Amino acid sequence: MSTDTESRIPTEQEPAAPADEQERVPAEELDDETRARRDAALAHVRKLGDPVLRATAVPVERFDERLRTEVEQMGELMHAALGVGLAATQVGVLHRVLVYKAYEDDPLGALVNPVLEWESEERESKEEGCLSLPGVHVEVERAVAVRVRAQDPRGREVVVEEDGLPARVIQHEMDHLDGVLILDRISREARRDAMRALRQAREAEAGPGEASGEAAERSPERSQEPTPA
Ligand SMILES: [Zn+2]
Repeated sequence: MSTDTESRIPTEQEPAAPADEQERVPAEELDDETRARRDAALAHVRKLGDPVLRATAVPVERFDERLRTEVEQMGELMHAALGVGLAATQVGVLHRVLVYKAYEDDPLGALVNPVLEWESEERESKEEGCLSLPGVHVEVERAVAVRVRAQDPRGREVVVEEDGLPARVIQHEMDHLDGVLILDRISREARRDAMRALRQAREAEAGPGEASGEAAERSPERSQEPTPA
């Protein structure tokens, strides 16, 4: 059992991942303040190599003030990180909780204990990023539409039906709750490219001289091909 289970989200909030964490604005266009806030938020997001990202989150049973604070902080972190979605595991909390906000004008969506009830047969490939995988953008095939049964942060049952970007974000975040990353949903070749991009992003962040060669996961290449859904 990981001690991370009970770790709290840092008060400064943490970020969410792109298209589900897809960044809405290219980094070059950010003003200094926004960029600084984003970087501070991103520092709280667990990155590839952290075992918590491979853990399976546990169902939430207590719908208390603490849970609502957790959800609120996740929303703030996602916003600061310029993400469109964030799963609790990404901030080291092994709760089946996700937040998402695909479009600027959408209200913040928060799903607790989400269960996929239906997905469309129609699928499409679109580029996704992940706040836990800096520098990685890959085409991921997913169902175009989904219906998910969940609870809201007060424990009330909710059913959400989404298509397009929100549906994609929800699927990406639900994956996180099962320890699945976009790297698991792409071809071996695409994964190799993604790992290279990740390494480069890390080296750029580390700055000259301290390029850490230590890669994310020991064996990013899984033996089996990504499962279709
Ligand atoms: Zn992600």
